[in-house]
Amino acid sequence: MKNFEYNIKEMQQFLQMTSGLYDIVRLVDPLECREISVSDGELHFLEGCYNVWSSDQRCRKCSSYKACVSHRRSEKQEYFADKVFHILSNPVELITDDGTSISCVVEFITSHEATEHERQTVNDRASEVHESALLLDPLTGLLNWDGFHQRARQLIRRYQQENETCLVIAIDIMDFKLVNNLFGRKKGNEILLKIAEVLKPYDSKNAIAGRLQADRFGLCIPKHSFIEESLLVELEAVQHLLDDGTFRLIATAGIYEATDPEIPVSTMFDRAVMAMTTHREQKKGLIAWFDQSLLSDLVYQQKITSGFERMITEGNYQIFLQPQVEPSGRVIGAEALARLIEPDGTVILPFRFIPILEKAGLIAKLDQHVWSLAAQQLLAWKGTPFENLHISVNISALDFYFIDVVQTLISLVESTGIDRTKLKLEITESAVMADVEKQIMRVKDLRSYGFTVEIDDFGAGYSSLAMLKDIEADVLKIDMAFLRETRNIDRSHYVLKSIIDMAKSLHMQTITEGVETAEQAKMLAEMGCDMFQGFYFAKPMPLSEFEAYAADKL
Ligand code: C2E
Ligand code: CA
Ligand code: CA
Repeated sequence: MKNFEYNIKEMQQFLQMTSGLYDIVRLVDPLECREISVSDGELHFLEGCYNVWSSDQRCRKCSSYKACVSHRRSEKQEYFADKVFHILSNPVELITDDGTSISCVVEFITSHEATEHERQTVNDRASEVHESALLLDPLTGLLNWDGFHQRARQLIRRYQQENETCLVIAIDIMDFKLVNNLFGRKKGNEILLKIAEVLKPYDSKNAIAGRLQADRFGLCIPKHSFIEESLLVELEAVQHLLDDGTFRLIATAGIYEATDPEIPVSTMFDRAVMAMTTHREQKKGLIAWFDQSLLSDLVYQQKITSGFERMITEGNYQIFLQPQVEPSGRVIGAEALARLIEPDGTVILPFRFIPILEKAGLIAKLDQHVWSLAAQQLLAWKGTPFENLHISVNISALDFYFIDVVQTLISLVESTGIDRTKLKLEITESAVMADVEKQIMRVKDLRSYGFTVEIDDFGAGYSSLAMLKDIEADVLKIDMAFLRETRNIDRSHYVLKSIIDMAKSLHMQTITEGVETAEQAKMLAEMGCDMFQGFYFAKPMPLSEFEAYAADKL
């Protein structure tokens, strides 16, 4: 479940709106026991949120901590100075102006004079309340997640007073799960213990070391005493902890410099992890520093995901139509391609937002939006010269995980009353391959309802031919790109011709996309390709431009 998100202004309004309803309404960062005051669009962090009930350290059963880590409302009672405080903790996500997301909690607190019975029960538990939480990892003896956060915050604050910044460092073993699977948990634990030994020297008065998750360690250390070469030597030493010819143990590190000391330690650690994983993907060495470009990627991702619902309702996500034509040049339909239109009119292409939406689990929502825009357009064309045109829409492989694609599309047709044969469906080869058995059934259902199903990006994957023997679709959409960078033109033309012939013998129509020149169009027509789409004919364009283009080519 995702927390409610508020920017600073919205949060300020929310706190003001609810403040009259309870004795105290306040925002806290329970991971670090800080109260956050919001005024004039600015955040101020105040230490020791537990001071309200005058305990002198983190409350043992902090309901806000529980709410924050579980993403669920939680409540509890505190007793102080003969009063009982009832605290209702609501988890929220606070988004700052630079896109940083802080997981925090809005507390609604009411208090009343304690009754005799309450006084008695609370006294019975009094000794419990002040017990400190366990802060150590039982396996390695290093700090655990909780301990690391608390001690890192203290360290950062201490050095901040001396005008010194700290580094938060994440260290992680690649494919550690495999170590457990191949060599057993006991061996896995042995390795973790050895790594802990390597890191233990950091755990001193001036720095800390912790094991935060299974195979993920953390360091927090003042910048002036950090020596990158030493860390590198330590990471390289990890390689020798497993004397096995078949498996190489690799530890990598990501470093975040806490230049903004007020952001939550968990965010700092996440950024260190982010630097590390991006670096890994690019195979760039064992140590990665978080830098500004990663931050702007992060801010951009944040903007796309947190603003997604709003941008959908405000109409920022639109469709462009790219004509699909017959060999004669007659327009028979179009592919609907998603575009994000910024408030200043800038058109953002899918490669900028689709991977982000896929990662955030939002792609199915975008696709449903695109499908419904396409349906609205088909409806608008009824009774006009464009009424015979079809619109092809894309279905992402991930849609099948999030929604019932078949039912959603059928409902769309039923609720709008469009001609079902005019909405064509493009499913990529890789989406089919992800789960062949199920996809065969789904494609069957879609076709028996009357949809035309196309296999998109044919030729871009590795398993194209094998797939065709299993799945029955109406149209093969051949990707021209896979022939473009070829060394031997004759051979690739032969391949193209064979694909078209094969499709014909499987009773499938063919459309080639990415047609950029007159020669390509002529050649494909001679080979018997039924339809074309590509820049040679037209680029994807807004609806009105598309209508102007298609008007005399129907
Ligand atoms: P696709 O489905 O293969 O769409 C065709 C892409 O090829 C489009 O890029 C189009 O602009 C581009 N294209 C068309 N003709 C030519 C040509 O002659 N030369 C070249 N070099 N390119 C050509 P676009 O619009 O940037 O879309 C890229 C991809 O984003 C799409 O590839 C599709 O995978 C994805 N996408 C776009 N809209 C949606 C959507 O609504 N839902 C989902 N799930 N994916 C979408
Ligand atoms: Ca497509
Ligand atoms: Ca395609």
